[in-house]
Formats: sequence, C-alpha cells, structure tokens
Amino acid sequence: MRSDRIADVIVALPADILASPPDYLRSARKRIELVAGGERRQDSVARAFARVPDSADLVVIHDAARPLVSQDLIARTLDAAAAHGAAIAALPATDTVKQSNREGVIIGTLPRSEIYLAQTPQAFRRRVLQDALASAHAGDATDEATLAERAGHPVHLVTGDARNVKVTTPDDLDAAERFLGRGHDPLTIRIGVGYDLHRLVAGRPLVLGGVRIPFEKGLLGHSDADAVCHAVTDAILGAAGAGDIGRHFPDTDPAWKDADSLVLLTRAAAIVRAGGFAVANVDVVVIAERPKLVPHLAGMCAALARALGVDDSRVSVKGKTNEGVGAEGAGDAIAVHAVALVARQS
Ligand code: MG
Repeated sequence: MRSDRIADVIVALPADILASPPDYLRSARKRIELVAGGERRQDSVARAFARVPDSADLVVIHDAARPLVSQDLIARTLDAAAAHGAAIAALPATDTVKQSNREGVIIGTLPRSEIYLAQTPQAFRRRVLQDALASAHAGDATDEATLAERAGHPVHLVTGDARNVKVTTPDDLDAAERFLGRGHDPLTIRIGVGYDLHRLVAGRPLVLGGVRIPFEKGLLGHSDADAVCHAVTDAILGAAGAGDIGRHFPDTDPAWKDADSLVLLTRAAAIVRAGGFAVANVDVVVIAERPKLVPHLAGMCAALARALGVDDSRVSVKGKTNEGVGAEGAGDAIAVHAVALVARQS
C-alpha cells in the first residue's frame, strides 16, 4: 500500500466481507477498488484483472496473507517483470526436498539447487498476464506463474525474502509478530536494587551470603542478619515489582526469628518466579573492613545461586573495604549493595 511503484490497488474479497469492508481497505494515498472474489484463486485474479486500468503496463499480484512484504521486494519483482515479461519472488530451498508416494514412502530426492519456493509478489507485463489468465481453463493453479508457464511464457525468479511469510497457521502468526518486533517486549527486562546494613557485634556468628565466616564478631539482627541475602532478596523482589523483604518477612513475625536468610531468599525467588520472571543475574558488593572476604566469595555465589535456582555464573559477589571511613570502615557494621536483573519468561 505504501509502495510508490504501485498506482492502483484492486482487492478481491469474499462477498460477505465485500458487503462491509474493513477500515484498513480505505486509503487517502491511492485508489483502492474492491471486487468480489471467485471460486478459485485464478477466478479472483481474473475478476480483479478485469478492473486494471488500460494505462497499466505492469500488474503485480500479492497475497494478503503475506503482510510483511517489503517495498524493495515489490520493486525488484516489478523491475524483473519489466525486463523479462514475468517474474516472481521465490526463496531457494534450504532443506533437502523429498518426493513421496501416497503411502508416505520416498520415491525420489529432488536436486535442491534447482528447487525454489514461490512467494508473492508475482509481476507480469499486462499482455503476459492476460494470456496466462486466458489459458486458466486448462486447470487449477496455486499461483499465477503456473498459468504463465503453461501459456509458454518464461517466468524469471527474483530472490524472495524470508520475512515475507505467508500467515496461515498460529506458528506463522508468531513468526510474523517476531519479525515485527512484537514477539519479545524489551520492557519486560527489569532491574532491581537492594541495600542492607547490620551492626557488627561480639557474640554473634558472622553469616554472609549463606556462608558462616570465622570472625570475632557477627552481625546483629532478628534473623541470622545475613545482609548479603537481605540485599539480594530486596533486589529481586524490587525488580519483579513484588515489594520488599519487610513486607514478605516482617521482623515482627516470630516465624523469622533467627531465620536462615537463604530460606527467605529461596522464598523470594519463588515469589519472583510466580510473577512470571526469571532471574537473569545478580551482582553484589559487600563493604566490610574486616574480615577478608576473598576466600568466601565463591561459596557465597554458590549458596546464593542455589537459593535463586540459577547457575552460579549468574551470581557475582565482590568485597570492598571502606578505607577506614565511617561505621563500615571502623568495623562497626557491614553494608551490602545488590542489583538484580529479571526477565519475563514467555
Ligand atoms: Mg537485614
């Protein structure tokens, strides 16, 4: 409809649709004429052809079931028809082509290099199409090129376009929507941020990312005070738009007293999954002056990945000191920042 190579559009429609044609068959840009289709494809084409203006030297036929045809493919097919009399868009076969009998047993393998799968547009010089349609009584044809071939006209091939799909099944519709960029909505990739800080005090075990780390102090809190798990929990819940750790696991609830925070994270991951999201990756920074975290980072990644139900490669944990500055620098607290990316699964 947008091609500047097309002057007039004639659409053959079933009679019931012709009675109240859809809005998209109106255009301010070019003349669109609607005609009643016939019994067979070639009858519909003949009825439409009868309405082609005398001034038109080239006629191009296109299936409405191929909505993704490009202007370039229309132009190339028209150019070839202008040069040779008749030309169609077609794709070379990429699969091996077998011929079978009625029992589904192969009776031959066709040389693939000679096989092309016909598409539309199919373009013709006016007199060639006229000749082809005049010979249509000779039998049914699934495209106009067949009629032209039978009438003895050479029909040239123009390399078609894989995007120019014929939409006849639900799978075809999926493919067409993917080509239109509708199959995957980039806005369903979402990021979340989490933060937590706990005081470091004597007489508590130090648990970070589900790993118990030997140290003279531990983090103070209602649960095991695992600030890494808490930050990651908030990051994934936030990414999925599912609230935060306080809403799902309030510290006023005795159920979470001394809770294993990996269990909370496992539950949060289930909430995220129930929302239709999968965790793409998690990245964590632990700010602790002491102890040295490097020996424990791989263990934290593995424990977090297990709780999240993802591969270890999707989780990263890094340790930083705070250069002696502030509560973290003085060894009075450990702070954790986390980001998580989640993606909606189709
Ligand atoms: Mg916390």
